[in-house]
Amino acid sequence: MAEDNKQEVRKADSKFSKVEIDQSLCIGAASCVAVAPDMFELNAENKAYVKNQNGADDDTVMLAAKSCPVLAIKVYGRDGKQMFPE
Ligand code: SF4
Repeated sequence: MAEDNKQEVRKADSKFSKVEIDQSLCIGAASCVAVAPDMFELNAENKAYVKNQNGADDDTVMLAAKSCPVLAIKVYGRDGKQMFPE
């Protein structure tokens, strides 16, 4: 489970430091994958994970996070504080 969430960070030109998925919440709806296919993927248990922290630009990341019906996608700012969900 947690091993899917690779401890990578986003590039310095992003206003986000990293994106995480709470797999205990994820219901495998895959809207995040539809919005940002180079960033998110479903694992064998139908739980999303971040396959590439830099797989989408900031706007797309936020769109994907907002598309998640259970708000399982957490977006952190440069200061380490959670920016979404607020
Ligand atoms: S949109 Fe949310 S519930 Fe659906 S796969 Fe992505 S993280 Fe999971």
